[in-house]
Amino acid sequence: MNYIFLDMEWNQPNGKANTVMSTVPLHGEIIRIGAVKSADGTTLSDKFYSCVIPRYYKKMNYAVGRVTGLGTAAMTYGVKFTLAYEQFLEWCGDDCIILTWGGEDEKILEANLAVHGMDMKAHPKFCDLQIIFARRILCDGRQHSLQSAVEHYGIEMNLRAHDALNDAYYAACVGLKMGFADYLTQYDDMIAEAERIRSEKYFRTYQNIRSASEAMYGRRIRTCRCPVCRRLMKTGKWIRTAQNIAINCAECSEHGEYSARIKVTPCPDGSFSATRRFVRLTAEFRESYEKALAENVSDISSEN
Ligand SMILES: [Zn+2]
Repeated sequence: MNYIFLDMEWNQPNGKANTVMSTVPLHGEIIRIGAVKSADGTTLSDKFYSCVIPRYYKKMNYAVGRVTGLGTAAMTYGVKFTLAYEQFLEWCGDDCIILTWGGEDEKILEANLAVHGMDMKAHPKFCDLQIIFARRILCDGRQHSLQSAVEHYGIEMNLRAHDALNDAYYAACVGLKMGFADYLTQYDDMIAEAERIRSEKYFRTYQNIRSASEAMYGRRIRTCRCPVCRRLMKTGKWIRTAQNIAINCAECSEHGEYSARIKVTPCPDGSFSATRRFVRLTAEFRESYEKALAENVSDISSEN
């Protein structure tokens, strides 16, 4: 079994309106593939690096350029994606598992395969090391940057970050330090467990909001995305049940119904915070929601 630590860099459209939507939305077009290999799970044995010439986003996005240090000229040499990916798979070998930091790379890869007419699921199994780190090493279930994990293990960081090969190398260093191979058999259970926890109760807090009304009525706070799949949920009308609380019922066609609540809290510095919480819908909640709706509790928002 080959363990492949992978990191990719991708360019983004200049402006959301220019996002290519041919098959699936292409939020990022891969321009660099960096990977290091471990054949035994304890030492590194080989590396892979490829520059990819983009087909769609040929002009460097300003923010991407700033982070990666790459310019438009850096996307004019290399090979086309289809060839780069073929070479990558060949280098990986038949029996392999791909390890990344975070879940973004897999999503971006699938979108790139789709827009090039390749089978979007035709890639080896991916595992997110960040999930292992959060759930089994620090046991806090939070998100951690690769850099913070590198620091956690006291790994010296003298290569430039946000370079595909360097980031793959650092992910590999962290992976080896955490003894990743021992956790892989539990990985699917870990994902299921994380999903189950999120699907039962999920909340998110927004801070530094300028006014109470923005905290209560702001679009980003009132938008309800499914805690599991992040798709927009169907909602009813938001009902204010107290000065600082609004409730709603939300439904994901795949993951079921949730009670939604926004709670606004004033902060000592004069700003406001808003916490939006989703909990599995109960009959009691639906009843109190419908009662409030019938009583026509005033909600001056016209957003719904
Ligand atoms: Zn869902």
